[in-house]
Amino acid sequence: MEQPYLSIVIPVYNEESNLVPLIERLYPVVKGTGKPFEIIFTNDGSRDRSLEILRRFVQDYPGAKVIEFNGNFGQHMAILAAFEMSRGEIVITMDADLQNPPEEIPRLVAEIEKGYDVVGTIRQKRQDTLFRRLASRVVNITTNKMTGMHMNDYGCMLRAYHRYVVDNINRCRETTTFIPALAQTFASNPAEIPVSHAERALGESKYSFYRLIRLNFDLMTGFSVVPLQLFALFGIITSLFSLAFALFLLVRRFIVGAEVEGVFTLFAILFFFIGIIILGIGIVGEYVGRIYQEVRKRPRFVVRKTYGFEE
Ligand code: UDP
Ligand code: MG
Repeated sequence: MEQPYLSIVIPVYNEESNLVPLIERLYPVVKGTGKPFEIIFTNDGSRDRSLEILRRFVQDYPGAKVIEFNGNFGQHMAILAAFEMSRGEIVITMDADLQNPPEEIPRLVAEIEKGYDVVGTIRQKRQDTLFRRLASRVVNITTNKMTGMHMNDYGCMLRAYHRYVVDNINRCRETTTFIPALAQTFASNPAEIPVSHAERALGESKYSFYRLIRLNFDLMTGFSVVPLQLFALFGIITSLFSLAFALFLLVRRFIVGAEVEGVFTLFAILFFFIGIIILGIGIVGEYVGRIYQEVRKRPRFVVRKTYGFEE
């Protein structure tokens, strides 16, 4: 088999209704580039007919390959597994639900060929609910602030990576990660281009509110220790204030004499700080949890079988 120039990487989790329309739009586009290519699907433990459909692709579409996971390990692990098996000079990630138009791929390739090593995309006229768009705004702003990186849209998975960025990502052994942010740390010359965005074709989003919060925590704690530092800083400021407050009360004691009013104000203040303390413990716990996951050194994902990779 020829060394592929393009590797398209697609994570698949319960997408049976989208796969055929996807390959029918994707295949002509990739073929049209005239370069040798491979399309790697990772079946992330789908419980519908996705795997069956994907295995048919391996027969019907030369260059289609499938990695079958032993269970559901999440979108980013599915992409990482495909990264490890990919051999293309340019690696492109995209979603299976047709929210990322395959027709944009040649533009991404052209951008990498211009010398950029990571090409991100900014979704134009985003077709998601207001809630999802707001959540993304928060993620983008906090991630940029905390990590010192600059990207307009972390959420869009239609992205292109140069081989050496992928090789560096493959050297990381993190168990919870977020690939666009990870890639950004290895990029020396990133670019971003606007792409169109569509509504999810069929099926439902795999990200619930809870999973979005998890993702945000992964982004925050996975790429910086700023939350810990902010917390420590806040602790210092609070102690200074309470010291001043104590002094004030002491002075007042001599002027006004003993008094018990304002107990409830005190309660309010107390509860506020208890809340802060619990939050702080939570943040510390988040880091401890990550350390725990890393030191266990469990395999990040388990591949049951691969199709189409044999020469
Ligand atoms: N996905 C996956 N494993 C998961 C969740 C999602 O492989 O546990 C895949 C899913 O099939 C899709 C992509 O990741 O190709 C993005 O998921 P989704 O469209 O549900 O996310 P959203 O667009 O709502 O952010
Ligand atoms: Mg989607």
